[in-house]
Amino acid sequence: MKVLFVASEAYPLIKTGGLGDVCGSLPPALLATGMDVRLLLPAYPAALAQAGPLKPVDTIDLRPYFHPTVRLLEGRLPGTRVKLWLVDCPPAFNRAGNPYHAADGQPWPDNAERFALFARAAVALALGWTRQRWRPDIVHAHDWQTGLVPALLASDPARPATVFTIHNLAYQGIFPRATFDALRLDPSLWSFEALEFHGQMSFIKGGLVYADRLTTVSPNYAREIQTPRFGHGLDGLLHWRRDALHGILNGIDRREWNPARDPHLVSRYSAAKLGAKGPNKPALQNELGLPPSPQPLLALVGRLVWQKGIDLVLELLPALARRGVQLAILGNGEREYETALRRVAAVYRDWLAVRIGYDEGLAHRIEAGADLFLMPSRFEPCGLNQLYSLHYGTVPVVHRVGGLSDTVSDIDHPTPVLKPNGFVFSQETPAALLAAIDRALALYRQPTRWAALQRSGMRQDFSWSRSAAKYAGLYAGLRPTPVRNPPVKTRGSSRHRAGVRRTTRAAAARR
Ligand code: ADP
Repeated sequence: MKVLFVASEAYPLIKTGGLGDVCGSLPPALLATGMDVRLLLPAYPAALAQAGPLKPVDTIDLRPYFHPTVRLLEGRLPGTRVKLWLVDCPPAFNRAGNPYHAADGQPWPDNAERFALFARAAVALALGWTRQRWRPDIVHAHDWQTGLVPALLASDPARPATVFTIHNLAYQGIFPRATFDALRLDPSLWSFEALEFHGQMSFIKGGLVYADRLTTVSPNYAREIQTPRFGHGLDGLLHWRRDALHGILNGIDRREWNPARDPHLVSRYSAAKLGAKGPNKPALQNELGLPPSPQPLLALVGRLVWQKGIDLVLELLPALARRGVQLAILGNGEREYETALRRVAAVYRDWLAVRIGYDEGLAHRIEAGADLFLMPSRFEPCGLNQLYSLHYGTVPVVHRVGGLSDTVSDIDHPTPVLKPNGFVFSQETPAALLAAIDRALALYRQPTRWAALQRSGMRQDFSWSRSAAKYAGLYAGLRPTPVRNPPVKTRGSSRHRAGVRRTTRAAAARR
């Protein structure tokens, strides 16, 4: 089985969130099951710098759609045997910083062109229009940046089968009609049964409509996105495609996230040697300028966006101050949250530490040094930080949504399938979050029960090998299937259309 992974980020080449983690760890996990997996990524400067030796193996002619020369560079995903191809087109990808937006947080103005070019390069490889002999049986594309890949492949009779994974439905790649025209896409794709979305062009619909199989990163999120509350206007379409849609939980990359071998920690530990977690807390307090205190240390690491419920935590700060805890926050994202956090950090400087920025090593040290990890996300496709927290014996407090529901089992109301490992709250309110934190703080004062809860989480298996086997099962026997359009005669006449009409604040957000 030959599989081409097409993605806009993959750790350790470039990562802005969970998408990068998954695309860096799933390919080697699939390779270990005996598949021939290759990874295609844009040649951003960070990827070129991290990739190690690369050799130019091809040029891809994308005329008449794009004129710059596109080179294909070949290497390996660092630390793995996965063959890596980088699409090298300096005008599109040679810019510093975040792959999606400029330093001021605004999306690069040519994002549609950049990722359309990347998609066309992927299609050329998939259909054998290059000098490469290797042809995939399956093309596996990820998130809106690669949504055009299944759409462009769909009309080719010799195409491979396609899988499209939704890592976060809130990010859809929405562009004006003029962009659709500028990209010289086939006019038949301008239809609400194809790429059109409320008079605009949607990249993600290319994946959702045209891929042979859809996956998302947890079983619960697969159900949620078929409902108006979580569907970001696409719930009707996803419900229509429900037979093709599978929820497969993300895993932990144990090469990167393992407290027994983590090079970022001052003291390494495991469930059997839990006492050795202890020195990580004063080391973290010291690093963050917090006083050395035995009080519970709460933590939050993540993108500072509305999705993550940062505002719920901000509202709780006076109540947390009264409880005598410490709180460490690491993240970057929207200006309003960054500014608000900097401001409160100055007010509560003796117990609240805020680090605005992206720091992989500090994220590891926070997971190891903290006692409790907060994830009050409004929606969470899978969530990796709660998995890292479980593995690091840092008890998670999470909102009952998406993958958080699938992976965290409340000590007082455990799920039937998972041993208790944390604290879960159901209402999207600061009061509900605080009530869950209070339950956690009460248990923290009972060291034996607390240690049992930590060990329970540390011993649960959220490894990639389980999830990789599920992807392998999905790929097995997958053949290209003709696209069936939703049963819609006139605009607005069907449930599908009804679902598509809704928009949300989050749908307008962009990664
Ligand atoms: P999302 O994909 O929505 O960002 P996930 O929980 O699935 O959320 O994955 C987030 C990943 O990004 C984790 O590996 C987390 O440690 C990492 N991460 C997020 N923000 C930061 C940051 N500021 N510094 C270091 N790592 C971060």
